[in-house]
Amino acid sequence: MQTIQNAIGGKLIESTSTRIQPVFNPATGEQSASLPLSTLGEINAAVAVAKAAFPAWSHTPPMKRARVMFRFKELLDKHAGDIAREISKEHGKVHDDALGEVARGIDCVDFACGIPQLLKGEFSRNVGPNIDSYSDRQALGVVAGITPFNFPAMVPMWMYPIAIACGNTFILKPSERDPSAPMLAWQLFMDAGLPEGVFNVVHGDKEAVDAILDHPDIKAVSFVGSTPIAEYVYRRGTSAGKRVQALGGAKNHMIIMPDADMDQAADALMGAGYGSAGERCMAISVAVPVGEKTADALIARLKPRVESLKIGPATDKDAEMGPLVTKMHRDKVAGYIDVGVAEGAELVVDGRGFTLQGYENGYYLGGTLFDRVTKDMSIYRDEIFGPVLSVVRAGTYQDAVDLIHGHEYANGTAIFTRDGDAAREFADKIEVGMVGINVPIPVPVAYHSFGGWKRSLFGDHSIYGSEGVHFYTRLKTVTTRWPAGIKEGAEFTFPSMK
Ligand code: NAD
Repeated sequence: MQTIQNAIGGKLIESTSTRIQPVFNPATGEQSASLPLSTLGEINAAVAVAKAAFPAWSHTPPMKRARVMFRFKELLDKHAGDIAREISKEHGKVHDDALGEVARGIDCVDFACGIPQLLKGEFSRNVGPNIDSYSDRQALGVVAGITPFNFPAMVPMWMYPIAIACGNTFILKPSERDPSAPMLAWQLFMDAGLPEGVFNVVHGDKEAVDAILDHPDIKAVSFVGSTPIAEYVYRRGTSAGKRVQALGGAKNHMIIMPDADMDQAADALMGAGYGSAGERCMAISVAVPVGEKTADALIARLKPRVESLKIGPATDKDAEMGPLVTKMHRDKVAGYIDVGVAEGAELVVDGRGFTLQGYENGYYLGGTLFDRVTKDMSIYRDEIFGPVLSVVRAGTYQDAVDLIHGHEYANGTAIFTRDGDAAREFADKIEVGMVGINVPIPVPVAYHSFGGWKRSLFGDHSIYGSEGVHFYTRLKTVTTRWPAGIKEGAEFTFPSMK
């Protein structure tokens, strides 16, 4: 059985930890690897090599750093299929979905290749007599990323390519549930010529996270995961004096207006609700049809399609959805279906009985559809993170908007309509960070930035794109006077243009 190693200082290093966790293949329920949970000493060692690598890397000309990124991107393109297979093996998502994840990660590397342009500062000549001023952004030092299970390759790539291109050195603590894909990406980055110590990967759980949050030599932390942990990471990290961006959970609503193309809306809900078995922070988990006729038409379209979802392992090319990530998570999601029934929601399609011949020990759950869900139910309030779509019927457009505004999360949302006025009003007024108009999963491209509002993001910066560059750098402004020798005598008043 493979034991996953840490990557510290350009080398793969066997952990000495006695705390070891199994990694499973969710399609079969078999253990595929063992993961030692790093010791405090191992985290400190990673930070020490990253700190030692920082002066040389941050002084490497941006163009040279970009060349490493270009080579990394080429290797990622070449090995995208291998990374996707690693993702599927431990996460369970189907191969095409995993390939899509890798492609969106590569987009962020692509963006980071433009770092010489992105770091270009501003210059003003003659801000005073013989005085010029320039501003530019400088790297912070050692920065860290802590990532969730649901995008084991892409979410780390929201962080480390930009952080490293900016001149920082990086410590990644990936999810314990699917650690292999980020390790393969680490190897490719090394093969691209990244100097030792610039990018390090340490595995672990809360102990490793706490060590990162408390370490005085780590200047900034990017976190993506569930809201309670995001809030914890934000509070502990900022009270240790770090810059922290902590992206949390979600409950994304899609409004379906009476004038929407109902077939298009149903297609969108199938992909956005059940793709990746609902384990996406931008999944649509609440459909909000406006008006009873709209709701009835939507349910009529969704029911047969949810019943006939093709569920299987990633090796099955026809599968539309794979298993859930762990047995514990599968049972938790199934438990929510029990709760929804007990709370009085109408169970239109029940996924609890689903089994797959030959894969009886896999963590599968059928697609599930609830109708007549109300806002007081826990299946509405909580993030379930599984293939469970709730329909909440709204009387009017305003009721639908009020529903969204009443929820604690505000990551993504969408509206399906043919009415430009309604669409514009929605985009303008809705209090959610990422908005789709006839687009169900509005994940911003790599040269925009990703981030929710309210309890879906703690901190002042969204992630990747120009917000990523800002997060991983700090502004310096230099004021210069040449020639220097002009004698004006001592000035005791505040410098100004008199
Ligand atoms: P999680 O919060 O359980 O774990 C995320 C990371 O935190 C992991 O690296 C884990 O090791 C660490 N962690 C877990 N418990 C901890 C603790 N008690 N103390 C310190 N660290 C701890 O999340 P997950 O289950 O891996 O991922 C799913 C969640 O991530 C969902 O809530 C989903 O919405 C969210 N997510 C959000 C975004 C976004 O961009 N907003 C993107 C992807 C996933």
